Amino acid sequence: MKQTNARTVFQLIHENRNLSRAKIAQMTNLSRTTISAIVEQLMERGMVIETAPLEGNGAGRKAISLEVNPSNKHVIGVELGVEKISGTVFNLRNEPVHSETIRLAERDDIGESIRAVIDRLRDAVKHRFDELMGICVGVPGLLDSDKKTILMSTLLNIENVNLYETIAKGQDVPVYLEDGTVLAATAERVWMGNADSPFIYLSIDEGLGASVIMDNQHIQGVNKVMLEIGHMSLDMNGDLCKCGNRGCFELYVSTLALAKKVKQAILDEPASLLGRIMGEDGKKAVEIALLEAANAGDETACRIISEVAAVLGNGIVNLIHIFNPQMIVIGGRLSTLGTRLLGGVEEQIADRAIRSFSKNCSIRLRYNNDNAVVFGACHYALGQVLDSYFAE
Ligand SMILES: [Zn+2]
Repeated sequence: MKQTNARTVFQLIHENRNLSRAKIAQMTNLSRTTISAIVEQLMERGMVIETAPLEGNGAGRKAISLEVNPSNKHVIGVELGVEKISGTVFNLRNEPVHSETIRLAERDDIGESIRAVIDRLRDAVKHRFDELMGICVGVPGLLDSDKKTILMSTLLNIENVNLYETIAKGQDVPVYLEDGTVLAATAERVWMGNADSPFIYLSIDEGLGASVIMDNQHIQGVNKVMLEIGHMSLDMNGDLCKCGNRGCFELYVSTLALAKKVKQAILDEPASLLGRIMGEDGKKAVEIALLEAANAGDETACRIISEVAAVLGNGIVNLIHIFNPQMIVIGGRLSTLGTRLLGGVEEQIADRAIRSFSKNCSIRLRYNNDNAVVFGACHYALGQVLDSYFAE
């Protein structure tokens, strides 16, 4: 995801009120002619509007300020999860306009279900906007170089499934598929205005995904296929993973791993507070129940959190040694465990990491968890569409 001039200009107009063309030229070091050409095209496309002249200093012509047009265009971001599919429509000011979620049952056709969410979203906003610009779907798995086929998803238990054909069929706008972790990492960078490099974002939900950004580019391997850090082995004699390896990172650090530990702990001590909290409401998310019990002083809950934090810290130390990063962010549902989790990770880093690396590396929890993937998806779709306008 390279930052092109058109994206930079649009982003600046988005982030700043009262920018004139001259000011943008100054900020970007691009020529006035280039800026005017880009702005003209953005206005022709209805993405940017001129507002009242700026109050000048009295000398010469007053500059016209620009702003993003919030009212006529939108993008759709969708997150394919293990148990549900969620989607949100955003306007060009990154404001969520409408959301839809459906539960995903095991026998449901994934492509058709994503399609159903997109149809609902399009239907819900069709009278409010005049143009949908693009759709992006974040998936929890390894995508091929064409971004059409899921090569492997241990979470969805699928291999070589072409989702693109079903989702894009008959759509009158560009459709993109992208790795969900990549999208969540993108969202985090946008929200925090973060430009640290290398930057590592860990997305820990049912599985563990990680995206590594260097110089504003997500690191990719051969054929533009992303990394699989969740399948880095932490124990060569550990449990067998669906990927074929043993002792994979995500087998120990994920909400599924957490649920297993909690289940065992409750079997061992049914009368514990953790057991009562989980028992009161079978639907409670495991990380929320754990935190509640730990905050109330339950020793078992505290022990489980520190065990998971220790393994996470151990994995992160490996990442520090491999990438020598400037920033690591822990995101996904597991980050709900908050400072208890972060504290345990920091202990491992202090104990094990090479000091000259770790002293330059900040580690923190994600800014926002709730819609990182869908927000990142919208940002991605918008960037791709913008680039396509200026590639002609
Ligand atoms: Zn694995």
